[in-house]
Amino acid sequence: MVKSLLFQKFINQLTHSAVHFFYPPQCLHCGDLIEHNQPLFCPPCTTLLDILNPKERCPTCFEAIKGNKCPKCIHGEQIVTKIGAVFEYVGPAASLIKKLKYGNQPHLAEGAGAFMVAQFVELNWPMPDAIIPVPLSFTHWIERGYNQSYLLAHEMSRLMQVPVWDALKRHSGDYSQAGLRLEQRKNLSGNRFKINKEYPFEDKKLLIVDDVMTSGTTIRRCAEVLSERCPSKLYALTFCRT
Ligand SMILES: [Zn+2]
Ligand SMILES: [Zn+2]
Repeated sequence: MVKSLLFQKFINQLTHSAVHFFYPPQCLHCGDLIEHNQPLFCPPCTTLLDILNPKERCPTCFEAIKGNKCPKCIHGEQIVTKIGAVFEYVGPAASLIKKLKYGNQPHLAEGAGAFMVAQFVELNWPMPDAIIPVPLSFTHWIERGYNQSYLLAHEMSRLMQVPVWDALKRHSGDYSQAGLRLEQRKNLSGNRFKINKEYPFEDKKLLIVDDVMTSGTTIRRCAEVLSERCPSKLYALTFCRT
């Protein structure tokens, strides 16, 4: 748990913002009624929010480690310079991201993005030249009406004064997959990305942003495509990790 007072003050200020203007003041996790001047969660649920401590994590892949050696990262260079996350995908943090993702509550990106900036500061990474959200498939975008990673990236951008580059698109599948069943095609195309070459990627420090990291495949696929344009460093930060 990160305990710095300044850090807590920063989070409180940011998560107290206009969120309750839009919906009745209920705790996002347990549903209890909360005061208008409270942030996203009731006091008991707020105490369950446990920001992952970078000092207890592998500095490269963010797996929990004891000591400073990670068995996974001990061999060779990784395609992503450093990966980080704010929370495990449990408790109030998971409730927040589920409501942002599936509950048609795009305004929650404001509070979630503030947590991500706070963790970015704790991680002590260099300021990136651009923030790149992981894109959504067209079908998901149509269903949801917004891309939650894009909203998180924009909130971080606003607080960090770093531009967002809409630099990646999901492949929608192509003719070579025509013989495959729909499900197989979805699996194949879901994690393939193409790049918008208009951005000046070369020698830039780039921060990939996503809502949840599970196996890390999506982040790696994004990083592979971006690394072809020779950025100097690639970082990736997600709100939750499973
Ligand atoms: Zn609660
Ligand atoms: Zn590692």
